[in-house]
Amino acid sequence: MLFDYSHIKIDVLEDNWLREKNISLSVLRLDAIHRVISGNKLFKLHYFLEDISSGKILITFGGAYSNHLAATAYACKLSNIKCIGIVRGEKPKELSHTLKQCLNDGMELRFVSREIYDQKEDDGFLKKLEEEFKESIVIPEGGYHFKGAKGVAMIMDLIPDNTTHVCCAVGTATTLAGLLMNHKQKKIIGVPVLKGMHDIESRISFLSENNVDLKQLALLNEYHFGGYAKKTDELITFMNELHKRYQLPTDFVYTGKMMYAIFDQIKKGMFASGSNIVCIHTGGLQGNLSLPKGTLFF
Ligand SMILES: *Cc1c(COP(=O)(O)O)cnc(C)c1O
Repeated sequence: MLFDYSHIKIDVLEDNWLREKNISLSVLRLDAIHRVISGNKLFKLHYFLEDISSGKILITFGGAYSNHLAATAYACKLSNIKCIGIVRGEKPKELSHTLKQCLNDGMELRFVSREIYDQKEDDGFLKKLEEEFKESIVIPEGGYHFKGAKGVAMIMDLIPDNTTHVCCAVGTATTLAGLLMNHKQKKIIGVPVLKGMHDIESRISFLSENNVDLKQLALLNEYHFGGYAKKTDELITFMNELHKRYQLPTDFVYTGKMMYAIFDQIKKGMFASGSNIVCIHTGGLQGNLSLPKGTLFF
């Protein structure tokens, strides 16, 4: 079975400052599913993998540090599916640890220039792939598709009933859309990790096939720390502190920024007394390997 929920747990962050505000803050540890295929990615892949019949080739896309490529390669290995990863940018002399892991798991890698990569959603590009690989299924980058969001919707079934707010980091917004599709009257809070993402609501409409209530959505737009995969000393210090105080490891691209945002907003009074907040740890810890040794203390 691909889905092994048994390692998922919920950690309550106990602290005086939270008790004083009468706020409960906990973390749904999807990073605990598996070392490679951690977090939200398995959920996004769920319906794609379910639909793929034997003999078909799975094709997907990502950058050199893509958690999505790593998760797809590993899931395909477990399911005995041949897969091809189309990687943004020319092949470097030294492959990233992520891409090495993908190769180890049996994914075939194809490097394309950034210009070509940017056409990956065009009909011409997809047609060419279909001609070359007749029996193939294409998963958009980051699982950006209704099926990806529908898989994520299952995450809400792991959230305790008494929760008032559910928070997640936002990249393609597939995870956010999936949570909203199954919101169970909880407020869903998204923290974009890219600078100036102005199209999140239209992304959600596309991903959910216009089937969600945007009233349940709140976005915290000011926590991108300069943009995708950018970081500051303040973020790194926060992540080290988070681990020291609560034994919670985070990654600097997604979950570190999300946790920072929620801590900051609790301090600034966004959450009423009695709030019961669950942050989703969407995994991605392998991405920290790209940081210089010694940056993080965990
Ligand atoms: C991919 C990823 C996200 C973002 O998910 P989207 O569905 O693309 O918004 C968040 N956290 C981690 C760790 C990820 O790898």
